[in-house]
Amino acid sequence: MAELKKDNRPPFRNLASVDPYKLFASLHTPAFVIDEAQLIYDGEILKKVQEDTGCRILLAQKCFSNYDLYPLLENYVAGTEASGLYEARLGKEEMPNKEVHTFCGAFREEEFDEVLKYSDHLVFNSVNQLKKFGKKAKDSGKSIGLRINPEVSTQVGHDIYNPCAPGSRLGVTLKNFEEQMDEDTLSLLDGIHFHTLCQQNSIDLETTLKVVEEKFGKYFHNLSWINFGGGHHITREDYDIARLERLIKHVQDTYNVLVYLEPGEATCLNAGYLVSKVLDTFDNGDFHIGILDTSAACHMPDVVEMPYLPPLYQTDLEGYDYKIRLGSQTCLSGDVIGDFSFPGPIKEGDMLIFGDMALYTTVKTNTFNGMPLPGIYLLKKDYSIETIATFGYDDFKHRLGKSK
Ligand SMILES: *Cc1c(COP(=O)(O)O)cnc(C)c1O
Repeated sequence: MAELKKDNRPPFRNLASVDPYKLFASLHTPAFVIDEAQLIYDGEILKKVQEDTGCRILLAQKCFSNYDLYPLLENYVAGTEASGLYEARLGKEEMPNKEVHTFCGAFREEEFDEVLKYSDHLVFNSVNQLKKFGKKAKDSGKSIGLRINPEVSTQVGHDIYNPCAPGSRLGVTLKNFEEQMDEDTLSLLDGIHFHTLCQQNSIDLETTLKVVEEKFGKYFHNLSWINFGGGHHITREDYDIARLERLIKHVQDTYNVLVYLEPGEATCLNAGYLVSKVLDTFDNGDFHIGILDTSAACHMPDVVEMPYLPPLYQTDLEGYDYKIRLGSQTCLSGDVIGDFSFPGPIKEGDMLIFGDMALYTTVKTNTFNGMPLPGIYLLKKDYSIETIATFGYDDFKHRLGKSK
């Protein structure tokens, strides 16, 4: 590659004092590298919000479930948030001294006892589910919540991450709440949960909260907690923490409740890399193409689903105009990571380092097309590298059939 500029963007903050190409040279690629220093950086911000307001922050495990890091994360969060039985169990097993809060679109009858065993808070997605399971959960000493849908969309463009989009199945609308709720069922409630944001600032929380209070506030006075869900990009540089803290205190003071937040992304923002290598390059018409040993579809599916262009170390910086389309070795035409601007051509064997790759990646990988799963490594504060897990052919084979 031609002469490269320094890359001071936040996803690469902790690589500023080292040569990451040397640092990662011994890794078998593709490889996820989790950045301990950045997890601590993010954690300290979350800890401060909890200290300032008395609220409690939970790790949303659907975003990040690398439990080898839970002993570190538990210094910064009050517990884990789970989307069902498996995550509840993981939270209980791997962060055993902290709270487990479980929300599920619908709980299954036959697994509910086990869900109860692992969870401290149960949050139901419909009045029907609350009626079905609420009393049993309450009788076994659990704290009971209902997820509401305030029907206020503050995000535009990607309904895949918008629980307030028309026809949403997530949360109880005011109409359903008032038609279906009865006194006995209402008296089961210890808390209310809403989750409506995605990568958003606290101004959008303010907009949401205003509607939540107007519509549902009259039901809040006998509660002990209100859970603001996730999607708060608290650890992002431009996030307005003062406003968040004001909103938390307002709700805690007005309704005499404890506020919970359950961010995923904010707990591990910028705290990981996906290290890959160039396998081949060629031109196709006007396009310069690079084939990598990683895959958008298999290793960073949000790039395709959202979609978004992930940050790639030392590319897309000012003054670079040599565009290269980077894609994977799979057969899926759309398995393209994106068009990135480089200072010049790349060649076989070059290392490419994608940033902000801790969130919604290791939890979403798959072996479509027989793609190997990237190994998972930890970059320690002292820049030594520890192996967390490696994978091989058996991991691909075992989930497709009988093991012989
Ligand atoms: C996804 C989700 C979260 C975490 O969202 P982030 O955008 O990663 O902060 C929290 N709570 C619920 C119910 C969710 O579905």
